[in-house]
Amino acid sequence: MAGGRVEGRVALVTGAAQGLGAAIARMLADEGARILLTDLQADKAEGVAAAIRNAHGADAAGAVPHDVTSEDGWARAVAAAEAGFGGLHILVNNAGIVELGTVEETSPEVWRSMHAVDLDSVYLGCRAALPLMRASGGGSIVNISSISGIVAGANLAAYNSAKAAVRHLTKSVALHCAKLAREGQPLVRCNSVHPVFIDTPMIAPLTGGDEAGRGRLERQIPIGRIGAPEDVAYAVLYLASEESRLMTGAELVLDGGLSAQ
Ligand code: NAD
Repeated sequence: MAGGRVEGRVALVTGAAQGLGAAIARMLADEGARILLTDLQADKAEGVAAAIRNAHGADAAGAVPHDVTSEDGWARAVAAAEAGFGGLHILVNNAGIVELGTVEETSPEVWRSMHAVDLDSVYLGCRAALPLMRASGGGSIVNISSISGIVAGANLAAYNSAKAAVRHLTKSVALHCAKLAREGQPLVRCNSVHPVFIDTPMIAPLTGGDEAGRGRLERQIPIGRIGAPEDVAYAVLYLASEESRLMTGAELVLDGGLSAQ
């Protein structure tokens, strides 16, 4: 299935070497966007970009190495979007890490590194990308938070904290951009996405890699199944496209009913 829901747009997707980021990059490309994939795992991101180019042509995708915790890294990634694709309309702040631990088990080092990757990256990314996004005529930022940013767990202290902060930072960015738009600048919208367990390498420590482990996760979800990466990519596609033009500063929850209980 392919269409043109983001035709002519340029998207930068972080953490795009695997998992959700790769699925989001592929779906945005299927719908007409040109994609800059970024990741610490540069070779793997380039492999995903090559597959997109095979499907959609030589100028459909590129990849650059990128550490989302680095301010300089963000400057280079945004410059690569401008040099390689002529602008930027869609930013997907997707790169993230998780480490289990209660507040007492979590060392200050783990606390800081999780906030650096899961939260500081979103601040740095919005800050670095917004000038080019406005200069490109406006667009959409999608921040991948988690259902863990809305409901907490005893053994997710740092992840809960960082992902909840992403939800609120998203609203601040959205209001800042809305104000600038009222003053005559191109509108950039900003929304967050909150998935439950999704079938990517990230959940391996939670499942233990076996069926019993998957069953334990599935039983926590009212609809009884773990999500597929495409379930999240469809939501990102909607938020990235102009179909969601009235939506900013909002959260889209993809949790199979978990937080409805
Ligand atoms: P994943 O581990 O499969 O992929 C994450 C990617 O981010 C990897 O390619 C990794 O190399 C990259 N990355 C990590 N640190 C980085 C850094 N400092 N700079 C650049 N890239 C870096 O995980 P995923 O499941 O695809 O997760 C993607 C996002 O979705 C994360 O923000 C995660 O918190 C969120 N999320 C995942 C789930 C889930 O169950 N899988 C649920 C809710 C939210």
